[in-house]
Amino acid sequence: MSLLVIDSKSPRDIEKMRKAGVIVARAFDKVAGMLAPGVRTDEIDAAVEELVLSRGGKLLFKGYRGFPASTCISINEEVVHGIPGARRVADGDIVSVDIGVRFDGWCADAARTFAVGAISAQRAAVVAAARGALEAGIAVLRPGMKLVELSRAIQDHVESKGLAVVRSYVGHGIGREMHEEPQIPNFVDGSVRQATTVLPEGCCLAIEPMVNAGTYDVETLANNWTVVTKDKKPSAHWEDTVAITAAGPLVITV
Ligand code: MG
Repeated sequence: MSLLVIDSKSPRDIEKMRKAGVIVARAFDKVAGMLAPGVRTDEIDAAVEELVLSRGGKLLFKGYRGFPASTCISINEEVVHGIPGARRVADGDIVSVDIGVRFDGWCADAARTFAVGAISAQRAAVVAAARGALEAGIAVLRPGMKLVELSRAIQDHVESKGLAVVRSYVGHGIGREMHEEPQIPNFVDGSVRQATTVLPEGCCLAIEPMVNAGTYDVETLANNWTVVTKDKKPSAHWEDTVAITAAGPLVITV
């Protein structure tokens, strides 16, 4: 059995990734300022694209396997990979926005779920749990840890709230490419791979729990992109790109 060896980035590489991460963070500031009842999701997408390009970044999602937009925007029961379009955001929606940027050869990827106006308790619960699960995952990061410890911290947080963590989509290593090894399940899958993979100092991870109010089952709509909960209950998504450094976890996308 060959062990999966995870790539380490130097402090200098991580500094470069930070520049991509700052562009992502500025894009979220822009989104937060725009999100209000009546705004179209393609208006948000266009504003993010303009901001990223004006700062010299490239949009990682546009054209990725044919994806037609710069951002993924997923509302309420939509989990991930929603396509921005003519839909207008409504009061009470939860709106997940996922943004990936390459700058000077290095990538950063993050997602936030925004509440528009007053949201239901069920929607608020998935948003809080997704964010909390990401924070719980970041809190356990240290050089040399096993991947399974990260997955367990995320799963335990979500399930302690009586909610479900999506199993069919996972986080990922990130660096010069958006998707690098390892895949990061947000639950303990029982695999040898997850139990034996070591996260070294300098590894960079896009950690991204997706939390459902009902069951973890999801399905893909006829557009072949938008993933929704099978039971149509709400879902939320939070993601940051994080480096494991000797001094502790460094969040790249803030
Ligand atoms: Mg990602």
